[in-house]
Amino acid sequence: MLPCIRPDLATFAAYSAHPEEHLDSQPAIIDILDTNECAYDLPEALKDKLSFAYLQEIASNRYPDGGHGELKAAIATYANESAALTTITAAHISVGNGSDELIRSLLIATCVGRSGSILVADPTFSMYGILAATLGIPVVRVPRSEETFAVDVDAAQAAIQTSEQPVRVVFMVHPNSPTANALTDAELAWLKQLPTDVLVVIDEAYFEFSQQTTVSEVLTRPNWVVTRTFSKAFRLAAHRVGYSVTSPEITQVLEKVRLPYNLPSLSYRSAQIALAHRQELLTVIAEVQAERARLYQAMTQLPHFRVWPSDANFLYGRPAGDPASLFQTLRQQGTNVRHTGGGLRITIGTPAENQRTLAHLQQALTAGPSGS
Ligand SMILES: *Cc1c(COP(=O)(O)O)cnc(C)c1O
Repeated sequence: MLPCIRPDLATFAAYSAHPEEHLDSQPAIIDILDTNECAYDLPEALKDKLSFAYLQEIASNRYPDGGHGELKAAIATYANESAALTTITAAHISVGNGSDELIRSLLIATCVGRSGSILVADPTFSMYGILAATLGIPVVRVPRSEETFAVDVDAAQAAIQTSEQPVRVVFMVHPNSPTANALTDAELAWLKQLPTDVLVVIDEAYFEFSQQTTVSEVLTRPNWVVTRTFSKAFRLAAHRVGYSVTSPEITQVLEKVRLPYNLPSLSYRSAQIALAHRQELLTVIAEVQAERARLYQAMTQLPHFRVWPSDANFLYGRPAGDPASLFQTLRQQGTNVRHTGGGLRITIGTPAENQRTLAHLQQALTAGPSGS
């Protein structure tokens, strides 16, 4: 390591969503069910609109709209609609290059340059811990129930009271990834009583699939932030657009710490087009929910396997045997899922993909508890 580089970075690895190990043979069909995207690309007519925007509307030599004004207004309308509200405005919205950027901005705004830590409940979305580590911010980890994956709020409360560096942010995913459970009333009650020296970040990346939101809290709680993304239900993972809904005060802080032109013009247009056509795009939700119910039912019948109920567009399950081995067997069969948190997180795909997922699981698990 060069002496000019921070020594702690020597142990880091660059983020990679899909593993690159060698397979004995290449499966004929590979189903990408490890990153929780929507299984469907944008409809042709919307792709045409986006192409037109690229060819005719966007001047390539000009910087994007750095203030995000029109997009924020459209997001505010959707945020209101999502919670039967009328009072969320553009002043409550900040836009990021994926919600990952907003997570980093929140870390910069709370912890960088002074002592401070963040709290997460494992297993959960890895990006909070990864981004915190790159900024030198300690991560306090508390467990979840092995039965329901509800957060151990007593442990969380105790951790906040005893943490060496003050906990400045609590990150919760609603519903959680990888375990697919929405926040319970008890968890929400605990989060709501946290004092304003702790920022509460509710990551609602999967809101459209759960239809459960805490967004109304931002109107009365100055330390409450909801983050969402266009990468999942809105089918724009390629464009990297996320947003936050929070008090105007915190929104202004996020605007101060973000990069000036963080959202490329085409991404900006893609989010506008997706919102303008949200009714059509979100018809996919009913299909995902129906497939989720069908897949869940079928998975409860698998031998040597436990699956949990889901409020998201994925299912979480654990085999009686080694999950790594089942993960590998599925990969050899062409079903790519995420091995994480001691289990497998399986995205709901198209009906055909889901059928293959079930067949491959059945085949693997019938061979034994580790699926090999
Ligand atoms: C997929 C996902 C996101 C989305 O991140 P982007 O950077 O907006 O693509 C955020 N949070 C969680 C928990 C996710 O699973």
